[in-house]
Amino acid sequence: MAPVLYLVIPCYNEEQVLPLTSGKFKGKLDELIEAGKISSKSRVMFVNDGSKDTTWDILTSLCEESEEYCAISLSRNRGHQNALIAGLMEAKKYADITISMDCDGQDDINAITEMVDEYAKGSEIVYGVRNDRTTDSWFKRTTAQSYYKVLRGMGVDIIPDHADYRLMSARVLNALEGYGEVNLFLRGIIPQLGFKQSFVYYSRAEREAGTTHYPLSKMLSLAIDGITSFSVRPLRLITGFGLIVALLSFIGIIYVLASVISGNYVDGWASTTCIICFVSGIQMISLGVIGEYIGKIYLETKQRPRYFIAERKNITEE
Ligand code: UDP
Ligand code: MG
Repeated sequence: MAPVLYLVIPCYNEEQVLPLTSGKFKGKLDELIEAGKISSKSRVMFVNDGSKDTTWDILTSLCEESEEYCAISLSRNRGHQNALIAGLMEAKKYADITISMDCDGQDDINAITEMVDEYAKGSEIVYGVRNDRTTDSWFKRTTAQSYYKVLRGMGVDIIPDHADYRLMSARVLNALEGYGEVNLFLRGIIPQLGFKQSFVYYSRAEREAGTTHYPLSKMLSLAIDGITSFSVRPLRLITGFGLIVALLSFIGIIYVLASVISGNYVDGWASTTCIICFVSGIQMISLGVIGEYIGKIYLETKQRPRYFIAERKNITEE
């Protein structure tokens, strides 16, 4: 039996892009249904992440146009990762496989066929990996590359050049459901799940219209989340650094004592000031890093829901 595929596509203020891309998603679905690779019950599922423009109206009229579209709307903007998990958990009820992707046409639609083929061959997770970064700015390319290096160095298992374009089977999604964390960084969680995996390579296009929702500040906070949600190594580094500074101070004390005993001491204003500045700087940074983890614990202990679904189109609520 051909599997039921749900394309899960988060949308936030995408009124400029949707008219250009929505038809392509459906076209791909039709092509695969025609080829007998997926069931005719397959759907394009949009997740409206609390858009403030006409995105939801566009999605509603798409759903009226064709049964192959369905959509859910979150009660407010919850961010890309939460919108994704909302869509995936909803799709899981009906689908054998899901493929999550951006709605702006950046994720090459043709990789879907290869992903479905990989699933047919037995893979339960298929990662869409970019084969080049030429469409990125120099800045994004270099920061991304260094970030992957830092993550690896911190012991976080992450697939370089893979964003959130991936196929997952219902079994994988059931496993994913067990991860209730509110600081969601899917790219870090999925490789931890195990299951048979494979990769499909694609080249990432430019956004078809509109602008990115990941300005530098958001990218930075996603990056920090990625590290602090999966690794406690920064805390260990602080301890290590503390030990080194303590050792140096110890040597310093011996030196000072020796100078005093030999009566050979001068007004050490400059050196004292330097040391105080240096050590207090380190202390402030360390407190910040520890604070980052405490903040995470604070948010996680509350176990607040990650999202609420306010409306559904072409989906009958169970
Ligand atoms: N997105 C979302 N909620 C947000 C921000 C973004 O659902 O708060 C969606 C957005 O509509 C798009 C995807 O997440 O489909 C990726 O966002 P974007 O294309 O802006 O990021 P980029 O590709 O530039 O990293
Ligand atoms: Mg994009």
